[in-house]
Amino acid sequence: MKAPHVVIVGGGPAGMVLAWQLVSNGVPVRVLERHPDFTREFRGELLQASVVEAFERAGLFSMLLERGLALPDIERRMFVGKHRVVRVPGPRERGAVVSQPGLLALLHELCSRHPHYQLDFGTTVLDAIREDGRVVAVKTRCNGVEGRADGDLFIVCNGRNSHLRKSCGLETQEFESTADALWLRFDLSDAPQVLPESLDVHMFGKGLVVVFQPSPGHRLHVAYSEPGDLNRLRKDLPELRKRLLPTLPEALRPHVERKLDEHTEWQVLKILVDRVSRWHAPGVLFLGDAAHTMSPSGGQGLNLAIRDTFVAANHLLDALRAGRPLDEALFQRIQDERQPEIDRIQAGQTRAGQMVLKPLGVLHVMFTLLGVVMKLAGKKMEGAGGVLPAEPRYLTPLSRGASTTAATG
Ligand SMILES: Cc1cc2nc3c(=O)[nH]c(=O)nc-3n(C[C@H](O)[C@H](O)[C@H](O)COP(=O)(O)OP(=O)(O)OC[C@H]3O[C@@H](n4cnc5c(N)ncnc54)[C@H](O)[C@@H]3O)c2cc1C
Repeated sequence: MKAPHVVIVGGGPAGMVLAWQLVSNGVPVRVLERHPDFTREFRGELLQASVVEAFERAGLFSMLLERGLALPDIERRMFVGKHRVVRVPGPRERGAVVSQPGLLALLHELCSRHPHYQLDFGTTVLDAIREDGRVVAVKTRCNGVEGRADGDLFIVCNGRNSHLRKSCGLETQEFESTADALWLRFDLSDAPQVLPESLDVHMFGKGLVVVFQPSPGHRLHVAYSEPGDLNRLRKDLPELRKRLLPTLPEALRPHVERKLDEHTEWQVLKILVDRVSRWHAPGVLFLGDAAHTMSPSGGQGLNLAIRDTFVAANHLLDALRAGRPLDEALFQRIQDERQPEIDRIQAGQTRAGQMVLKPLGVLHVMFTLLGVVMKLAGKKMEGAGGVLPAEPRYLTPLSRGASTTAATG
């Protein structure tokens, strides 16, 4: 069977991990990415152990390590206040922090070895074009010029708040969102020894949460979240210093104090939890944040987006090899396989969003009680991390993927 021409909207983790699985298995893919390169807004970097293992088996993780684009063996720790470490249900997870631009660029490099792959940077998808109810093309804009991209199948991976949901006739369910997060990034290459060795989440009560995370290239990410206008807080440096600095570990504080100025890289992230009730329409499938926007709570969004692509590639490539149609029944099977994990984690994120609004004293009591319950329940309590199997059967090991050309059928 002739491989269909797949158009992927969005070259983020969902788009590029899917592109690699399809392209390395012979499917022609065109990716449309609105930014001029992968150094775009900063996004999640903590890969959970299950995704790291899949990348290890495919040879991707060792390439990331060799290039200095990943920090292995990073634990996510939770604190109530500055010093009290608390446990949440589930096994202790050690993952890896991976530079998102680095990962995306590596996947692009690997895909580019195949003649049936194309990525158009600087190309914004404006709308879906439907004929007889089926998406047959998308309207694009590149360098101010409007055009269209045709294809046999469209996979929308363009992240949170995807406007294509509406133009494809999909309905969005929104869940509660509490506070926004001010994300700051510091270059600590002059003091790498003070960088944390884990990703630490500190809950200070009444919605104040501060996260510290090491990042490849001796960077430090700090996320400061509390109810209120964080755009205004970012511009009021004395006030930001007053609120942020006391929450920092002593070793980090003087360095952040020195570097926190109007040049500090920053981004305000609207914390959202939502999902579309149906992930598909004729000719189009939504994956990753475009299908279900995640809050940063629990470091889940990146991992869920990647696991979506493992399941999607399994179904799409199985169907192609068996000569079965890529129709809505197939898309629904992809959604059905992914939905339970998404629902469970979004419910957990919504609960966590409510929990952090409690005063500090209440958080102490809650975590003391949780500790007792966890001890009594032993290993039976399930964690918030992704535990559902999403084994990627088409994440081609590099030695094979590099030499495969259009060969599906
Ligand atoms: C600051 C921050 C920190 C986070 N921390 C974590 C974490 O530690 N762990 C974790 O698991 N998750 C984390 N998340 C969430 C995680 O980053 C996202 O869930 C994940 O990136 C989703 O991947 P995606 O490919 O679905 O979407 P995205 O990463 O958003 O990628 C979408 C891509 O589509 C492109 N695009 C958008 N619109 C268009 C258009 N109209 N036309 C063409 N291209 C378009 C965008 O430029 C982008 O490249 C964090 C998110 C943020 C913002």
